[in-house]
Amino acid sequence: MYNAKSEGRNRFFFYNDSMRAATAQRLSIEHDLRRAIEGEQFELHYQPQINVSTGQVVGIEALIRWNHPTLGLLAPSNFIPVAEEAGLIMAIWEWVLVTALIQHNAWRQQGLPAVTIGVNLSSVQFSDPGLAERVREIARVVGVPLDCLELEVTESMLMVDFDAALKTLTALRAMGVKIAIDDFGTGYSSLSYLRRLPLDKLKLDQSFIRDAGESEGDAAITRAIVAMAQSLHLTVVAEGVETQAQIDFLGSLGCTTMQGFLLSRPLPAPAIAEILRENRAASAQPIADSRDPLWASIIQSKAHSH
Ligand code: C2E
Ligand code: MG
Ligand code: MG
Repeated sequence: MYNAKSEGRNRFFFYNDSMRAATAQRLSIEHDLRRAIEGEQFELHYQPQINVSTGQVVGIEALIRWNHPTLGLLAPSNFIPVAEEAGLIMAIWEWVLVTALIQHNAWRQQGLPAVTIGVNLSSVQFSDPGLAERVREIARVVGVPLDCLELEVTESMLMVDFDAALKTLTALRAMGVKIAIDDFGTGYSSLSYLRRLPLDKLKLDQSFIRDAGESEGDAAITRAIVAMAQSLHLTVVAEGVETQAQIDFLGSLGCTTMQGFLLSRPLPAPAIAEILRENRAASAQPIADSRDPLWASIIQSKAHSH
């Protein structure tokens, strides 16, 4: 029944073996996930967002990984959907938030630049009216100012119940938390709704950037989204930047903040500390030419050593 519904309703499906296998796999992941929370099997990797014209790291996104006892390191797409369905996402998310904020504190105490730390939200969390207060409580206990935190939400999350989302985001923003729209351009969102939301940042989805060089359509969409974000006074971050050509194209649009494998893969905390340390040292000498940037050599040498 769920398969028929998810394929657009008003149709039928025969139960088959592959469904049985998928259900069994899902149940086994769900079972292991419950243990993972207690067994401290999660870890965070961090990916810098870089202003390529100055070479500065301007933000860091925390990305969860699951160190599964038999399957190895799992990416979030392998378990976040299961966690959402099984009602485990809030517990996992609290672990992510606490860990990311403690890490932020540790970097600050090492004298490293206090850059914003981004944490992803899940759609099911918006239905929780206590979300903003929970964020405030966790930040208070960890002892970090709320303006160092950025929460990433997607368009589809916002559109499920716009009024509830508006209320939660307004409360978070009033506390000083920054709000970013993730994977922008892939969901369905109304531009008039977007204008009413308290937003700081728009993260342009990597699918547009990937083909902007070859596809005039994707290049046009990228150009239009960057222009729209600029006129709404939002910071634009291009996600999934993998080539110099993409950097050049984005730069020509005035979009200079980027996140992607070419600049740095998501890395464990100690490697990020090194990047921040180099950044602090380099900030004394501004970079004049963004085509021959210091960040590339600094960051790539770090990335290769991991
Ligand atoms: P996202 O928030 O859009 O995160 C960016 C994803 O793009 C990450 O995948 C990152 O590794 C990947 N990426 C970054 N640069 C490049 C690039 O140049 N090329 C390519 N091909 N990929 C790049 P990851 O870590 O697998 O995370 C996937 C998604 O899982 C995230 O997408 C986010 O929606 C979700 N996620 C991650 N951590 C959490 C979490 O703590 N909670 C929740 N609810 N969701 C999370
Ligand atoms: Mg994200
Ligand atoms: Mg994204």
